[in-house]
Amino acid sequence: MKRTLYIKFLLAYLLFGIFGFVVVATFVYGMTYERLKRDKADSMYQMATRIANTYAADLYNSETSLDAVHSELSSLSMYMEGSPIWIVNPSGRLVLDSSRVLDPVEEIVITGFDPTVTGSSYYTTGTFWGSFNQEMLSVFAPITANYKVQAYVVIHTPITGIEAKTNTFLNISYLMLIVLFLLSLIILIFFTELVYVPLRKITTATEQYAAGNMGYEFSVESEDEMGYLSASLSYMAGEIARQEDDQKKFIANVSHDFRSPLTSIRGYLVAMQDGTIPLDMYDRYLGIVINETDRLTKLTNEMLTLNNLNTRGMLLDKSDFDINQVIRNVAASFEGTCREKRIAIELILTDDTMLVNADVSKIQQVLYNLIDNAIKFSHHDSSIKIETTEKHSKVFVSVKDSGIGIPNEDQKLIFDRFYKSDLSRGKDKKGTGLGLAIVKEIIKAHEENINVISTQGVGTEFIFSLPKAAAMDAEDE
Ligand code: ATP
Ligand code: MG
Repeated sequence: MKRTLYIKFLLAYLLFGIFGFVVVATFVYGMTYERLKRDKADSMYQMATRIANTYAADLYNSETSLDAVHSELSSLSMYMEGSPIWIVNPSGRLVLDSSRVLDPVEEIVITGFDPTVTGSSYYTTGTFWGSFNQEMLSVFAPITANYKVQAYVVIHTPITGIEAKTNTFLNISYLMLIVLFLLSLIILIFFTELVYVPLRKITTATEQYAAGNMGYEFSVESEDEMGYLSASLSYMAGEIARQEDDQKKFIANVSHDFRSPLTSIRGYLVAMQDGTIPLDMYDRYLGIVINETDRLTKLTNEMLTLNNLNTRGMLLDKSDFDINQVIRNVAASFEGTCREKRIAIELILTDDTMLVNADVSKIQQVLYNLIDNAIKFSHHDSSIKIETTEKHSKVFVSVKDSGIGIPNEDQKLIFDRFYKSDLSRGKDKKGTGLGLAIVKEIIKAHEENINVISTQGVGTEFIFSLPKAAAMDAEDE
């Protein structure tokens, strides 16, 4: 695949030219020749009939002499570019020839003369039964007197004259063809500029991309399909590059998050084995080891969850359920942790039941992750507010803490996988930074939204929406 498309197009162009010439040379020549011959024959025939009806008829009605007719026809012949005019009687004897004076003694007979040779037309081509040594066009017009064909007026003209005229026309046609051929070069130029050059750029780019050079940049500055194609291609390459980048970051993060617990587990186990840790301290350090393995299990589970959400993103098991009840249950599961940190969870819920339509287990996970964060990043002796409000056909759930808050510049990043703000690093060593990424994926799968409002040092509020169940909507109306 080097320049084949171009060569094909060029070949098509040349073929167009060659066929053009062939067509002109055959059809146009043939048609023009026939047409000119017929026209010539027509005018000659008119002349011949006029002669047959006037001078020649007079001759046979004995109203004039042969000499008088001869001189008339001679001058007429001159007028017709020297075309000889003959009078031939049915048996083939030449009675008069405008181009010469016939010797009355010596009879000239055209052997084989047959006036019916013209068939339905009134002319014939050839040497006129050997009378000429070149091809002639000969027209016949009968001379009738006393209701009988007495003779024929025959006018001859050399075919070469018609051929010469045809060639003149043919030359004009060739000239037109050449002009047309050159003009159609414009198409070739357009093709090169609009199709071929952009196509080359696109092919080069795809070759680069296929070879893994996703950073390769190119542009086709046109607003047609080619421009659109190349823009899409660049965009695609950009997306792939970005994904590759994300993938690399993801792997780096995963490795990092796996390595640190493994290192610490290994450290403690080795220390136990070589006796650095005395037997009576085992319980404490085994506790740490168990904690670390829990962390690894949690990380693995979270990654699996994210992966499933991504690949089967839209597979939600939706049903109508009471969001208030779900909030109460999830909040209750944090009782132990809350007691430790002396944190109070305050529930400000709408009417007793608030039915929403969503995947209950996934929403439970969302609530779990948000409350978990709220507790993690809250100070001791503070409170967390969980509130539901309804607006139109939506229910809004808010989880609000008065903890450390999130710096402004971090707020758009916290939903990214593995993202943890520096503030939280010291506070929460166990966190993997996947919790909010999972929350975001779940809410996105429900085609709903989640937002964060946070002030550093004051607190954070996460608000997400859920669709009210159809039953609830009906109740409202
Ligand atoms: P994981 O949830 O996987 O255990 P994590 O809690 O650190 O780890 P995310 O839940 O994704 O991860 O949160 C990402 C980061 O966003 C946190 O590390 C923290 O910096 C910040 N963040 C999230 N919620 C809050 C909050 N309520 N207050 C302050 N910072 C928060
Ligand atoms: Mg979290």
